Amino acid sequence: MATCSSMLLARRTRTNLGALLRCSPRLLSPSRCWGSGASVAPGDGDHVLYTQEHYALKASLRKIIDKEINPFVDKWEEEGQFPAHQVFKTLGQAGFLGVNKQTEYGGLGLDFSYSIAVAEELGNIRCGGVPMAIGVQADMATPALARFGSDELKREFLVPTIAGDVVACLGVSEPGAGSDVASIKTTAVRKGDDYVINGGKMWITSGCQADWMCLLANSSNGPPHQNKSLICLPMKLPGVHVAKKIDKMGMRSSDTAQIFFEDVRVPSKYLIGEEGMGFTYQMLQFQEERMWGVANILTPMENVINETIDYTRQRKIFNQPVLHNQTVHFLLAELATDVELLRSLLYQAVALYIKGNDVTKFASMAKLKAGRLVRELTDSCLQFWGGMGFTNDVLVSRVYRDSRLMSIGAGADEVMLSIICKYMETLPSKK
Ligand SMILES: Cc1cc2nc3c(=O)[nH]c(=O)nc-3n(C[C@H](O)[C@H](O)[C@H](O)COP(=O)(O)OP(=O)(O)OC[C@H]3O[C@@H](n4cnc5c(N)ncnc54)[C@H](O)[C@@H]3O)c2cc1C
Repeated sequence: MATCSSMLLARRTRTNLGALLRCSPRLLSPSRCWGSGASVAPGDGDHVLYTQEHYALKASLRKIIDKEINPFVDKWEEEGQFPAHQVFKTLGQAGFLGVNKQTEYGGLGLDFSYSIAVAEELGNIRCGGVPMAIGVQADMATPALARFGSDELKREFLVPTIAGDVVACLGVSEPGAGSDVASIKTTAVRKGDDYVINGGKMWITSGCQADWMCLLANSSNGPPHQNKSLICLPMKLPGVHVAKKIDKMGMRSSDTAQIFFEDVRVPSKYLIGEEGMGFTYQMLQFQEERMWGVANILTPMENVINETIDYTRQRKIFNQPVLHNQTVHFLLAELATDVELLRSLLYQAVALYIKGNDVTKFASMAKLKAGRLVRELTDSCLQFWGGMGFTNDVLVSRVYRDSRLMSIGAGADEVMLSIICKYMETLPSKK
């Protein structure tokens, strides 16, 4: 079903671009066009990474965002959870949950640059929580499964995830291990044909609604980088306890759970790839997660700048628009420049990645800069809104809160710096 609609989508993106753009006059407003990530398709060859097909995919997704997601975002933010099964079904049917996954499992079979285009477009959702959960489903919990999982495992877990029939989550962090992934304590002990899981996970996005978890656990007592495995863990099994939904300052519409495992028995065939390779697989999986996160934050940054321009242009103080103060329009120009610099670094990383290169250094650099820039940008823009910026009625305050996670989640800034130092060979040896 998903394969069918995916093929239809792919065909539509190739043939109906003009019609799509005519249907979306809002996308053509000049203020939306300054960034190279704008939704409007430039001429063929006018973009370093995206073709007309990338833009058609973005335009198609934008319609779903405007109709099925954005009208409900405020309600979901207030309720502290969005209906993941409902939203994922819509996105799955349209092909957006498996853009770079194999077609035989329901994916679109496109390269990772298309996932990045989708991540950028998802940034038009007017909160961070919903796109983050979509990212977990499409590009954070599934890359290792798609790459290393057996055919049987992919049919059981990947196919329904891409179709949007089930909700996936990623279980890496624990109460005592976030930045230091190697020190996780959850165990998966082989007993007969099963693994018996004990321990717990923390900060699990979509953890309250998930049907399965891509779990990282210690499957032996060996060295910490070689004793871990990734396992597909169904969440409805006896012994899986969702202990609590964590109350957060931002990403309000995404549920974040603490989860315990007590003698949970999982068939050993649910192991992803080879036993003992889990740490390596997760580090690889992190690269896509980090590039996805950078792409996804570019659009809110662009939108916040555009909305700040609109607001400060009409808001008059001391008989002139706020925007006419040089400190305001110069700073906005500076920030827009930084967004474009970040975008260039991301596109370079993605272009190299799809050619099969190791982009750990560039992906880490982009993730580091994204976290720092979005904090600076939202703080500066919020200031120009005055008291209005301090209300919950405007995008800038929500992005200010939601994007604070960028410097913490998926590896904190300091972890990114350590990785970059490792590649620069400046990290002191632990001996
Ligand atoms: C809303 C939200 C959603 C999340 N979703 C998921 C999810 O779906 N799945 C999942 O597995 N995890 C998830 N996480 C967890 C996230 O990845 C971790 O919070 C993150 O890795 C940091 O780990 P920690 O919170 O344990 O912080 P700690 O590891 O305790 O680190 C605390 C601080 O120490 C500093 N630090 C770290 N390393 C160094 C260093 N080498 N040098 C100097 N200082 C350093 C940093 O400033 C860091 O912020 C989520 C977190 C949040 C808040």
